Amino acid sequence: MSSVAKIAFYDTKPYDREYFLRENKAAGLEIRFHEFRLNTSNARSAEGCDAVCVFVNDKVDAACLRGLAQAGVRLVALRCAGFNNVDAAVARELGIRVVRVPAYSPHAVAEHTVALLLALNRKIHRAYNRVREMNFSLGGLVGFDLHGKTVGIVGTGKIGRITAEIFRGFGCRVIAYDPFRDEDWAARHAIEYCEMDTLLERSDVVSLHLPLTPKTHHLLNAGSLARMKPGAYLVNTSRGKLVDSGAIIKALKAGRLGGVALDVYEEEEGVFFEDHSGAGLKDDVLSRLLTFPNVLITSHQAFLTDEALHAIASVTLDSIRRFVAEGALVEERVVV
Ligand code: NAD
Repeated sequence: MSSVAKIAFYDTKPYDREYFLRENKAAGLEIRFHEFRLNTSNARSAEGCDAVCVFVNDKVDAACLRGLAQAGVRLVALRCAGFNNVDAAVARELGIRVVRVPAYSPHAVAEHTVALLLALNRKIHRAYNRVREMNFSLGGLVGFDLHGKTVGIVGTGKIGRITAEIFRGFGCRVIAYDPFRDEDWAARHAIEYCEMDTLLERSDVVSLHLPLTPKTHHLLNAGSLARMKPGAYLVNTSRGKLVDSGAIIKALKAGRLGGVALDVYEEEEGVFFEDHSGAGLKDDVLSRLLTFPNVLITSHQAFLTDEALHAIASVTLDSIRRFVAEGALVEERVVV
């Protein structure tokens, strides 16, 4: 194995380059930054690289992995926690290892989740625009106290647990659903586990913190939305495809949902992270969602804190350096 690792980075933005270059002063790896997203048609751009570093919307499917293998790539390093965009089974077949950053800052995502809900509920996004127009009226800005409300946390992993604890700090009643329960943690924070249907029926706010898998695809659909309390709020900072956006629009039009806050969207690839202000949107579903005053959308930015970017760069470069220099991987970061 060569001792200086060569890595091709895809879908990079100025903040990626800033943090990775800063961390690389110590790591000393040879980095090639690309702005385009990795997919089958451009996999050959990794020719001569030991590793590729990808983000949430690079499409590392079977054909792309074959292209990477032909280009000589032996490691796919995800600079994120989720890995639903990589065909892990095919990577295993090809002998390509896959690593991720399992926990860069669960606080970053949990805090953004709460920020979205507070902004949406207290209409901060609308008030901000009004005041800038010298409109100091309060009509239509009535929110509700979070104190005393029931918040349903779906998925009590790293991010879900922190989000739940923050809501407990607001004086909320927190209930949770996870097929793998952490009863000790729940007891410590006076959080009650229940079944998914019960969570939907009882919660004033439902917040999603689970991975996207074939089983969880469209977990929130017309049927599950119909089970939610009339006027309940939904927050999704996990993965867009957990939610059927068409069903959300119908529920909003019917006035069944009180509000929807999203940091992720099922067709976000090619839209999020880019400036479309000059060209307009081609996605009619996203365009319709943006017309509702009780919908607040951010562009997959929950991870975007200084602490998280620093941790992502340092863990990713460490994984690549170890793999190339020692053929070793840190167990908890391994996908394949
Ligand atoms: P984690 O692996 O620590 O926790 C996920 C939890 O979900 C686990 O406890 C698991 O048992 C549970 N789970 C699995 N299937 C479930 C189901 N059907 N119903 C309920 N729970 C289920 O993951 P995490 O680090 O807490 O991440 C949670 C989500 O946040 C992931 O989807 C991840 O991709 C997403 N995420 C988003 C951002 C962002 O910037 N918006 C950043 C990081 C992570």
